[in-house]
Amino acid sequence: MNHPAIKVPAPMAAEIRPWTLPSCREKNIEIFGMERIAIICKSHSTAYGIPSGFSTGTLLDVDLNDSKRIIQFVERYGLPTTPYAGQSERVEQRFVSNEIFSDNPEDMGSRIWYDALNESERSYEISLNQDCALFNNFKDRGCSKGTEVANLTEGIRYKKEQVILLDDLVTTMAFMQLATLLFTGKAAYGDRAYDYVLHQVCISQNKEIIENRFSQLRMSLQMVDASEPQLAVAKPGTFEMDEGTKIWVSNQFKTIEVALATFIDLAINPQPEPHAFIQEQTLRRMVNRNLNGQNPIHGSLTRAWAIQLLETLESHFSWNTCRECGRPYKFRQQRMRAYVKQEDANEDRFKDRNNARDKNGYCCKAHEQRIRRKKDKRISNDQMDKAARKMDERDQ
Ligand SMILES: [Zn+2]
Repeated sequence: MNHPAIKVPAPMAAEIRPWTLPSCREKNIEIFGMERIAIICKSHSTAYGIPSGFSTGTLLDVDLNDSKRIIQFVERYGLPTTPYAGQSERVEQRFVSNEIFSDNPEDMGSRIWYDALNESERSYEISLNQDCALFNNFKDRGCSKGTEVANLTEGIRYKKEQVILLDDLVTTMAFMQLATLLFTGKAAYGDRAYDYVLHQVCISQNKEIIENRFSQLRMSLQMVDASEPQLAVAKPGTFEMDEGTKIWVSNQFKTIEVALATFIDLAINPQPEPHAFIQEQTLRRMVNRNLNGQNPIHGSLTRAWAIQLLETLESHFSWNTCRECGRPYKFRQQRMRAYVKQEDANEDRFKDRNNARDKNGYCCKAHEQRIRRKKDKRISNDQMDKAARKMDERDQ
């Protein structure tokens, strides 16, 4: 038998760690002298994984203008939290214990947020990087910093609950949605990706929300809006840009791309590599493993999504286009909630697949059902037309 002198960990996929599924209620609150919508959360169960196809399916479907839809999403899949300034970590810790209130929540909450930013080596680096200015979205009083303040303010929640501002969730979701559109678009459609992304944003109910958070896109979006009628299904190439426009648009996307790629990377690797000079992958993993032992990485929906998106982009399977929404996908999402058992999550993530039968299909079960309902409606309309025509003929 072969006993290696040094135990070398086998190459392993990034670990998806469990996170909390909450039950939620909506509440109007006031912080920093402004009214805000807050979601009050209480721990309900534990999630161990997301169904395959979630990133290209349900995630892109959530209407971010509708708090009821967001709550339904959160109760099924968990809270979209930002990895920036350690929020994902603090949210999980608050589900365990959140007993502290403050007499001066605005000062203390802001201090906690900035301390966390400075304590996290990677977040601090990001805050200094001009290409990552989009992360300033989370610093907003209505976003992740405001969430800290709301948790310390008495009279909003019970001790066993935690607060997260609706705008905070919406901002993180906008990052997740745009990142998915952008990177799947680039992988599936190559140099037509920007046409595709702009078109998808234009026909999305979340257009205004995305435009507000990613203001660099405003002019490009106006251009697409003016150039063609709104199609239900975006066909890449229907909006063809000339070379000059292409260069201009890709410049608009440049910093967005850097920031969104950093967001994904931070969700997966919240801690810095301890020794950048170790180039060999296996050795680096061993060093990381020790480090992680001291400083465990917390699970979150955002981390699970980031890992799944990366695995989808890297997998050798071919891209399909959904017949309902026109978005590219590799695996159709069958299950419409997170896994609450580790075995089920593992089975889905690591099973042998074949996506050939999806060639002419749908990105998720919900879209197939939507098309079927439309067809049924058309058939019953046709039948009604026929019956009406018969009656007409009889009357004549
Ligand atoms: Zn679809």
